[in-house]
Amino acid sequence: MNDIVISKFGGSSLATSTQFERVKEIAYNNPNMKVIVPSAPGKRDDKDHKITDLLYMCYQLSSHGLKFDDIFQMIAERFFEIRDKLFIDLDLESILTDIKVNIENNASRDYCASRGEYLNGMLLAKYLGYEFIDACDVILFNETNEIDELNTNRELLKHIKLDEDIKYIIPGFYGSFRSEIRTFSRGGSDITGAIVANALDAKLYENWTDVSGFLVADPKIVDNPREIDLITYKELRELSYMGAKVLHEEAIFPVKKKGIPIHIKNTNKPEDKGTLIVPETWGSSRDNLITGIAGRKDFTVITVEKTLMNSDKSFLRKLVSVFETNDITIEHMPSGIDSISVIVSDEELNGKLSKIKEEIRIYLNPDNIISSSNMALVAVVGRGMIRTKGISARVFSALSDNGVNIRMISQGSSELNIIIGIENSDFETAIKSIYRAFYE
Ligand code: ASP
Repeated sequence: MNDIVISKFGGSSLATSTQFERVKEIAYNNPNMKVIVPSAPGKRDDKDHKITDLLYMCYQLSSHGLKFDDIFQMIAERFFEIRDKLFIDLDLESILTDIKVNIENNASRDYCASRGEYLNGMLLAKYLGYEFIDACDVILFNETNEIDELNTNRELLKHIKLDEDIKYIIPGFYGSFRSEIRTFSRGGSDITGAIVANALDAKLYENWTDVSGFLVADPKIVDNPREIDLITYKELRELSYMGAKVLHEEAIFPVKKKGIPIHIKNTNKPEDKGTLIVPETWGSSRDNLITGIAGRKDFTVITVEKTLMNSDKSFLRKLVSVFETNDITIEHMPSGIDSISVIVSDEELNGKLSKIKEEIRIYLNPDNIISSSNMALVAVVGRGMIRTKGISARVFSALSDNGVNIRMISQGSSELNIIIGIENSDFETAIKSIYRAFYE
């Protein structure tokens, strides 16, 4: 590991010329910032459009043989604003003309989407005086659209001179497979940054965005929730899975292997502490009992009852296979002696409830099948739980004191979380009351 820092700046951090100026100040203040990974310009306010969304629209129109000039002009103007206000010496006109011609000539969807990061990267490199590396030369995918780690690392190390004082810009979100542009899923610049940090053995991966890190609970539900200073990779997985969104879910994996911490920072408030995401071993004994509360609505619970279910060795396998053959992912399976519940999201279930129940009836011949919809799951996550008695008692009494009826409880085997099933209508009350019980 060396002293270098890889910094990804998100779309809102680079949405205008003013934002570019902020990024410059941050970059010039940190001599260790070796590579910057930019996103495409994001929204300037709530009513605005992300450049990536506009590029997808251009592709859509063009692939139906329709004109996309107006939308393309909107895109061009966003980049001209940045270039002209900052006096950046870049022949954007000819680059944009090439891109437009390519889209008209049936360039792929991924190619179109990636041009936002490409153009923003070119501008930022010129503006900062850094070297531009096209992501398609260093971020390499394989046939199955996963990252080809070996070749990616090799190319990155070949292009980046670690022992010279050169700084680089590598656009986020895309790479290539056999010279064809490929993109990650939406928000994927976070993954690019993590891949670069891993390849270069960075000391730190900074992720600059428009919030000062993760919050203990959703601010739309809890007023002014506290910020999370420190969170482990595993805790973050639990919280993001349950709905906390700041970082792309897959961005943890590349840095986790080497234990490189991720620091979430606010471009508009660089003095704020932010959230540090760290390996499990970094958690200290004085940490908060719970780190965060998150949840999701709209689940269905299908409970199957059968006397002596436990003695039928194939029971579980048959039950799971009904969901597997219907291509439905199971979220949880809490069980009793003669009953088991399967919890699935309504999105996954996608109207197949009666079919599923019918198949369970045929394969398992149960005594009873009961289903309840409109359920929500709330996860209370904290690495401190393992050591501390009485956390669940505090969660449950907070809920019952506030009239929330608990329909299901499951403690993850990692003892990092407690998951509670409640009715959709109790969702907000549940989160508020758990927050109050631990933080007020
Ligand atoms: N620009 C892409 C998106 O909007 C990728 C990113 O911002 O990370 O999804």
